[in-house]
Amino acid sequence: MASIELINLSKTFGSAKAVNDLTLNVRDNEFVALLGPSGCGKSTTMNMIAGIEHPTSGEIRFDGRDISGLPANKRGIGFVFQNYAIFTHLSVRENLAFALRVRGLPGKEINRRVVAIADLMRLSDKLDRPSARLSVNEMQKLAIGRSAIAEPAIFLLDEPLSNVDAAFRAFMRTELKHLQHALKQTMVYVTHDQIEAMSLADRIAVMNNGVLQQFGTPEEVYNSPANTFVANFMGSPSMNLIPAVIGGEGGNRALTFKEAGSLPVSADSPLARSLQWAKSPDVVFGVRPEDIELASAGDKRPGLLLPATFVEPIGPRTTIHFGAGSVRMKAITEKRFRTGLGEMHKIFMPEGKCHLFDRASGAALRTGELHVHA
Ligand code: ATP
Repeated sequence: MASIELINLSKTFGSAKAVNDLTLNVRDNEFVALLGPSGCGKSTTMNMIAGIEHPTSGEIRFDGRDISGLPANKRGIGFVFQNYAIFTHLSVRENLAFALRVRGLPGKEINRRVVAIADLMRLSDKLDRPSARLSVNEMQKLAIGRSAIAEPAIFLLDEPLSNVDAAFRAFMRTELKHLQHALKQTMVYVTHDQIEAMSLADRIAVMNNGVLQQFGTPEEVYNSPANTFVANFMGSPSMNLIPAVIGGEGGNRALTFKEAGSLPVSADSPLARSLQWAKSPDVVFGVRPEDIELASAGDKRPGLLLPATFVEPIGPRTTIHFGAGSVRMKAITEKRFRTGLGEMHKIFMPEGKCHLFDRASGAALRTGELHVHA
């Protein structure tokens, strides 16, 4: 059992607020990713959970118990950093056994656990190899295994895959998920890679400038971003975010886009419901590139009319860029889609897939606001 509660947690270095009033509840056995750009406060949050940094204010509880006074080595935590901490002069077996020997476990039990974790991390055939002779990928597997073997109730991983190659990173994403299921640990995983967060986590805490932006399942943060920061950070290519102005009356409302014309908003559509929450006519309209449907310029259905400016074939799909003046958009299409530069297209966006944000604050305009706290 190990739930983690961060309550109004802040950390200040000099005049800089690395973490600002963070409240977050990680459930027992949950995999939570702390996601955000460099410098947003992810590592500082992890270090406070681990007991390496002390909060300037706020509280941390494990299973409801305030652990502020507890030193790092009494918190029952496993920690894996970006730079693998292993003893290169010891063999793989000795590295794995190290923490268990320190704890004075009987030799038989140490052996049982070493064999089990080596099997889980696919290091069984390397057990007697000097760890200095491992590849970078294997060293990171060993570092994870070395922490996991102590069976900590809470496992903290700070960018553990950022030094390994892309193919191994994809492989390790699956392995880490297996590891968590096998060991039934509560995991907090720091990353700046939204794909890693989306594929691994039960819930993602998106941070920026020390402030929690949204906490939800990968589907929630992807499909219902709480603000323009989250909308832009999740997804590759990212969501199209275009300034628009609300116009029209009653059942004939419309959004006007500078050089790209206007878009009528159907009464009672999700978009019309969002419009009700607008405090100002100045909004930001959002649509994901994969939710756009393209047609010929002559199509009579309502949509935006824009010329293609750049075509980017990416394997099975093609990203097409559109633009006129300040209005810039991207659409993902099937590989077969053909267009010429400057060719005009009608751009359709299903109303259920469109997002509206307040332009001044960036907050999503919607009733069912996702709660930042669990
Ligand atoms: P990265 O992915 O680059 O590690 P991060 O999201 O983990 O970034 P932190 O390392 O937590 O961010 O840093 C948050 C802010 O706090 C940054 O502005 C950083 O410069 C600052 N900071 C972190 N540790 C210290 C420290 N010991 N002294 C002074 N400033 C610090």
